[in-house]
Amino acid sequence: MSATSRGVARIIEPQAVVEGAGVRLKRSIGTRTLDYLDPFLLLDHFQSKNAADYEAGFPLHPHRGIETVTYLLAGAVRHRDSVGNAGEIGPGDLQWMSAGRGILHEEMPQVRPEGVAGFQLWVNLPKKEKMSAPRYQNIHANEIAVIERDGGATVRVIAGTMDGVTGPIVGIAAEPTYLDVSLARGGSFVQPVPRGHSAFAYVFEGEARFGDNLVTAPKLVVWDDGDSVEVRADKSPARFLLVSGKPLNEPIARYGPFVMNTQEEIEQTLRELQQGTFAR
Ligand code: MN
Repeated sequence: MSATSRGVARIIEPQAVVEGAGVRLKRSIGTRTLDYLDPFLLLDHFQSKNAADYEAGFPLHPHRGIETVTYLLAGAVRHRDSVGNAGEIGPGDLQWMSAGRGILHEEMPQVRPEGVAGFQLWVNLPKKEKMSAPRYQNIHANEIAVIERDGGATVRVIAGTMDGVTGPIVGIAAEPTYLDVSLARGGSFVQPVPRGHSAFAYVFEGEARFGDNLVTAPKLVVWDDGDSVEVRADKSPARFLLVSGKPLNEPIARYGPFVMNTQEEIEQTLRELQQGTFAR
């Protein structure tokens, strides 16, 4: 089989939603339009300089069976959880939290003059890891390699490998690639993506060409299968996340922050919450 460049399967307009205790954000995975892009369950984009849009934050809430990945572009988010972790992530930092069998945590954006901006991605866990111990990978901005490519691309490598550089996030079942790509005006970017893996770009600044499609931020672009992806910036610079991961191909039972394989497992989770034994 010869190597093929992936075509565009779908271009999705993010939906405005209010989440947590009243945080306004843009959701492009985890909606009626695109409920699941196996293994990705949710993609939220938050960006505001208006404290009223984010200060209520995400007070104490549970997770089970998934991983939540928070990548911050601006501002600060404080977190604290039932396992004893607490800290703050700032611009360029990333937290990859594998909830496994369960955590309770809060995620609170801090009111700052620059506001807050960033992303949260939910990655599904395979059946065999859904009840594993919670695990964190907290990555500081200065631990993320920046690759300057000829052709006008500047890339932060968060997960996966690009040009021989492997990102700091390791040991994730979905074998993810997570790149933050800035393209200069007139620049182009070609990157291999494993065949069979789901892949998307989330364009959050400027506009870029995906095949014949000119895509203006903010949009989610989902690729068909193939061996590589290609993005070009013509008249404007662009910045986008490039994310790929291996589909689990397992049944899912989803209820808010819990994602399991069967409804019975969801009911069991709700019983634990009721009885106060969840994450204890
Ligand atoms: Mn959470």
